[in-house]
Amino acid sequence: MKIGYGWDSHEFKRGIPLKIGGVEIAHEKGLGGHSDGDVLLHAITDALLGAIAAPDIGTLFSPSDPRWEGADSAVFLGEALRRVAAAGYKVLNIDSTLILSTPKIGPHANALRDRVSQLTAVPPDCIGIKAKTPEGMGTENAAIAHAVVLLQKISTTAGRKPTKKPRS
Ligand SMILES: [Zn+2]
Repeated sequence: MKIGYGWDSHEFKRGIPLKIGGVEIAHEKGLGGHSDGDVLLHAITDALLGAIAAPDIGTLFSPSDPRWEGADSAVFLGEALRRVAAAGYKVLNIDSTLILSTPKIGPHANALRDRVSQLTAVPPDCIGIKAKTPEGMGTENAAIAHAVVLLQKISTTAGRKPTKKPRS
């Protein structure tokens, strides 16, 4: 088993679509930054990469690389999942907390959970989507996401002692 942790933040900007967890949410502001600014998918991607000690999202997908300008963050998540599978692991569960003042995430939580489930092939009942407002933090114009993942070794030989050669 391996645990992974990821954190991300993006600033709200007017005139761009708001995308969280792969879902477009109607709001007067979206999240700026390179790619589509999907703070939740970025935190989950970093948690997956961290669990297998892979380079982080900013190293794999540099913000200064024009290829990732406006990119769908599902691409980053897909690469992290590919690396997790290549390392011989599957994702058991994902938990996350969003911290933002608006919009309210509660009404969208099920849609976010279903979309993250589609993107990761993790069942919806193994995906936690929680949201809080930034009380006293002074981050009203930002969205912050924390995520943790738990990975299980797929290989059936995991945890077994190496078999000894029979004595001749
Ligand atoms: Zn990000």
